[in-house]
Amino acid sequence: MDPRLLEILACPQCQGPLQMAAGKMMLVCKQERLGYPIEDGIPHLLVQEALTIPEIEIAAMAEDEPPAESPR
Ligand SMILES: [Zn+2]
Repeated sequence: MDPRLLEILACPQCQGPLQMAAGKMMLVCKQERLGYPIEDGIPHLLVQEALTIPEIEIAAMAEDEPPAESPR
């Protein structure tokens, strides 16, 4: 999936940033621990289709999170 697409996508529930789940066709809202499935390359950003992600999987994802600080 195009990483630039990720930048413009937001969680439909909290408007927070979404992160690609490694090894899964899923976009994850870490704040709410919700996973939005991606089918055929199209993310389904629907609250009613969101899956609850176990906290341990969220913790595993945090390791490859990009730095939060902006350059300026
Ligand atoms: Zn959210």
